[in-house]
Amino acid sequence: MKTYDAIVIGGGPGGYPCAIRLGQLKQKTLCIEKETPGGICLNWGCIPSKALISAAHHYERAKDSAFMGIKASGVEIDPNALQDWKDGIVKRLTGGVRSLLKMNGAELLAGTATVVSPTEVEVKLADGTVERIQATKGIVLATGSSTIEIPTFKFDGKQVIGAREAVSLREIPKRLLVIGGGVIGLELGMVYQKLGSTLTVVEALPDLLTGIDPECTKVVERRILKRGGAIHKNAKALGYEKQADGSLAVRIDVAGQTQTLVADVVLVAVGMRPSSKGLGLEQVGVTVDARGFIPTDKQGRTNVPTIYAVGDVSGPPLLAHKASKEGEVVAEVIAGHKAEKDWVSIPGAVFTDPEIAVAGLTAEEALAKGLEVTIGKFPFAALGKAMAMAETEGFVKVVADKKTRQVLGVHIVGPEASTMISEGALALEMAAFLEDLASTVHPHPTLGEALMEASAHALGSAIHIANR
Ligand code: NAD
Repeated sequence: MKTYDAIVIGGGPGGYPCAIRLGQLKQKTLCIEKETPGGICLNWGCIPSKALISAAHHYERAKDSAFMGIKASGVEIDPNALQDWKDGIVKRLTGGVRSLLKMNGAELLAGTATVVSPTEVEVKLADGTVERIQATKGIVLATGSSTIEIPTFKFDGKQVIGAREAVSLREIPKRLLVIGGGVIGLELGMVYQKLGSTLTVVEALPDLLTGIDPECTKVVERRILKRGGAIHKNAKALGYEKQADGSLAVRIDVAGQTQTLVADVVLVAVGMRPSSKGLGLEQVGVTVDARGFIPTDKQGRTNVPTIYAVGDVSGPPLLAHKASKEGEVVAEVIAGHKAEKDWVSIPGAVFTDPEIAVAGLTAEEALAKGLEVTIGKFPFAALGKAMAMAETEGFVKVVADKKTRQVLGVHIVGPEASTMISEGALALEMAAFLEDLASTVHPHPTLGEALMEASAHALGSAIHIANR
């Protein structure tokens, strides 16, 4: 039987950094992946969607920049060329994962793995043969998550689609209806809205992007409406009928009343479920919770000490960067280091237009913990760089402990929020105070000045807006 120090099941953003780090730490490692390495993130999630988001931004800017003296005519979108460009990026990155694994001494095996004992896995290879392989130090479950389907909206790959198809459309839908006003629904919905689709969002809950500061969400919501989109909240999608002209008549329930909306394509984006089924976990005794997540301790260990879990399958938040960090921690634990998951915050970024990015607590969450808070806020409308970019919607909000002035949370909606949030995450990791952010010299003119000014605002010393 082939024997390794560690076997990693899954080559996504949890599994491949884990295997690379294991290789760096001189552990004999095998990474098993049934599809193209890179997981959802590289193949049809984070990266492809960001390529489309960037293209949609350039397209809109090219068409609508007459206000700054740029007059362009005949600006067109070529969906095939866009897809080919995006596919090229995916190919480069997934190829990069293969090379990085190799460069670090980790082997990659194409196949489907199941766990058959605390130290062994069975792999079904493409030719149907089954191989049993041993891991002397640890097996890492990094199998990710999969799209939730609504029974009355079964994917047909053309008109009723999930995110996977939505990043691969070679025709821009005339009318796009998105079920689920969460991260995927809004990111991809806004892409196609910019590329010409009429967008309708149907969300079951009272708010879009539940869990995010509603003040931030409102800014994005306004943008969707301003571009002619429609948003139905407290609305449940019931089912649909295909009409004679090929369009879909979608029935939704809003407060007990049935309404019908017409669309050409329906994107279902109602969440993901952990991929913990069919891995053989029951036989080996690995605990799986009621939602299908695999609970782990601070070192990423499941209840079976030789089996670890990282990323989506180990619990929320379902974010690539959380998966990668967990993968690195588990690699170090398997290699005998004293590593553990001890971060203060896992920041989040939503690539809507404008972007939303958050780290740490909202004011409401801090109050619920019994803390007294002080809040500083700085609008991009008051920032020279934002004006020069013609991106003045949004703000930076800093939440701090009222007594100690330690930063508890940073919430940004606006241009490059996803880039700026790293400073907020660093502030939380370093247990920074408002004074630290406010007195750090930020280069001018930059968007980053907004975080400095928001912190100063909480202290009553902002320069470019009125203090209280
Ligand atoms: P989500 O949980 O973000 O949003 C799903 C939304 O669908 C929720 O608001 C929910 O209330 C709504 N919903 C559920 N059932 C519904 C129904 N029957 N009718 C109408 N609305 C309904 O899930 P998602 O957008 O599918 O994203 C999946 C995962 O992928 C998330 O966990 C997210 O963290 C991750 N993701 C992250 C990013 C990012 O970080 N930028 C981008 C894409 C995806």
